[in-house]
Amino acid sequence: MADYFTTGMRLYLDHLVDWKELLEIRSGGAVDVDAEVGAYRTILETASAMAASFEPEARKNWAAEAELTADGGAQSPPHIRQAYDQLCEAGLISLTVSEQYGGYGLPALLNGIFLEMISRADTSLMMVVGLQTGAASDIERYASDEVKDAYLPRFTSGEVQGSMDLTEPEAGSDLGGISTRVTDLPDGRVQVDGQKIYISNGGAEIHLVLARDDDKFDESRGTTHGLSLVLVPRHLEDGSANGVKVPRLEKKMGIHGSATCEVLFEGSIGHRLGAAGEGFKAMLDLMNAARLGVASQSLGICEAAVHDAITYAHERKQFGKAIAEQPMVEVMLANMVVDSEAVRALLYRTYRLLDLNLARETALAGGDLPDAQATEMRADLDRDNARVRLLTPLCKYFATETCDQITRAAMQVFGGIGFTMDAEVAKLHADSLIMTVYEGTSEIQASFALREIGKGALGVVFTEIRSELAAMTDDPMRAELAKRVEGMAARVEESMGVMFSDISYALLRAKLLTEMVIDVIASCELLDQVGVDNSRLDIAESFIARHAIKADYLNQRIADHGDGILERNARVVAEAASQH
Ligand SMILES: Cc1cc2nc3c(=O)[nH]c(=O)nc-3n(C[C@H](O)[C@H](O)[C@H](O)COP(=O)(O)OP(=O)(O)OC[C@H]3O[C@@H](n4cnc5c(N)ncnc54)[C@H](O)[C@@H]3O)c2cc1C
Repeated sequence: MADYFTTGMRLYLDHLVDWKELLEIRSGGAVDVDAEVGAYRTILETASAMAASFEPEARKNWAAEAELTADGGAQSPPHIRQAYDQLCEAGLISLTVSEQYGGYGLPALLNGIFLEMISRADTSLMMVVGLQTGAASDIERYASDEVKDAYLPRFTSGEVQGSMDLTEPEAGSDLGGISTRVTDLPDGRVQVDGQKIYISNGGAEIHLVLARDDDKFDESRGTTHGLSLVLVPRHLEDGSANGVKVPRLEKKMGIHGSATCEVLFEGSIGHRLGAAGEGFKAMLDLMNAARLGVASQSLGICEAAVHDAITYAHERKQFGKAIAEQPMVEVMLANMVVDSEAVRALLYRTYRLLDLNLARETALAGGDLPDAQATEMRADLDRDNARVRLLTPLCKYFATETCDQITRAAMQVFGGIGFTMDAEVAKLHADSLIMTVYEGTSEIQASFALREIGKGALGVVFTEIRSELAAMTDDPMRAELAKRVEGMAARVEESMGVMFSDISYALLRAKLLTEMVIDVIASCELLDQVGVDNSRLDIAESFIARHAIKADYLNQRIADHGDGILERNARVVAEAASQH
């Protein structure tokens, strides 16, 4: 059985996170760091063994569909329900929820690694587990104490699952189109009425629903103002049905075991999370966590594809030798490894910063810090929140696009059998295709990144990157690579200068700039890894060699602004449209 707890993961547990700093900020005092990290290691080792044990059934039952239930809900197929029950028995559920409610208070980085392992085994199961944790974390952050006490222990025991209900027929990428209505009731609760579509795990007991406040319904339509986030259970306290129904499931190309539901709310009673009209902020937290979750999910799929392709390429012989020995196959394999490690570098760097911010928020909320220290911490938090707001869409973009490419390359390595359902890689590729779409498409991630860059976040990120690169003087090879990354950062700034002079042009080129920025940050983090483990040098060198050239190329494409590209594109599309 493959070891799911990989070297790349262990590097962060053992070397690349300052656990002492993080845990002491979070707890406000001295912590037995070795004991905490030892407990984390045990959780991840247990998770790794369990996830690997789920893989055979998951692959065998990949095509098994989620199904509607007699009580108007939906459920995953039996193999996913069994795996979920085993995770509950092992206590590996809602891991980020605090100990007060029966969770582990696991840092986001380690929860991300956990989700990655589950996704490597069964990406549909990961949907269930990831949404369960995400919903619980948002409830812990935004609900009243009464609601937390009522629901969080049911999450940490695994009794209830969660879903995140945003999308509607007229509200996809643009959540300003939401028309599900939330109306205040005299007892402080609310009533929800409307239709949601494409809701993953929509048969869950607990729905977090983004809906428009009744009192500002007409004036706020078309905007994300006036939205509330509402916790709606399928059943009321007395066990009666709460008007939440799943009339139909989608038939999809992949993630068959994940129920993708239309969900109707008819006079459903719920509790607002956060203040009226501030639902979008609460939902943004959930969505940002979910975006990192999808990045972890994608990385898990990458790991499965890389493992399968490398194994097969060593077994399959053509022209008298293993195909892995053919340089063109070998380079595909090498690039698959390197690119998935680059995704890990960007993603874990982001999680690490997010954890630091969450710890600072906990410390500041405790109110025990001396004034000067609190002021300094708040300033650090503001600065680093800006960094996370930029890094999050970059992670979602990079991990999901890379997942698509890596699973496709794995199919190519398998040749003809890769196109058949006898090979697991075809299933992995089919699953990968949704990653670039849900939780905000790649285009939406690129436009979010552009907005954060426009607000100045890149300057903050690059200041830190440059100081890290400048300190890499220990080894001539690493120093040389650091210099190349500095050059890549300079290309980004040149491109920005061209793009931000014209907003339409900036939108046209947002994906190119996004990729350039990703390449710089991932390269720097790969070199940070080399600093603690010199055996990572080949990976860093390979990524930087390819992407330094790409930075020059993309910079030239962005500089090529003067010839009316937008107008030309419009003419090409209009001409084609006129023929249809
Ligand atoms: C299997 C599955 C599971 C899902 N799970 C959930 C869930 O659990 N909860 C939930 O709420 N939703 C869920 N969704 C919905 C998903 O998040 C949306 O499908 C997605 O956000 C895109 O919205 P849309 O389908 O309406 O596409 P559209 O918004 O119509 O986009 C169509 C195309 O136009 C592009 N586009 C749109 N606007 C812009 C712009 N401003 N700039 C550039 N390009 C743009 C998009 O990138 C895309 O390529 C799920 C969907 C699927 C298929």
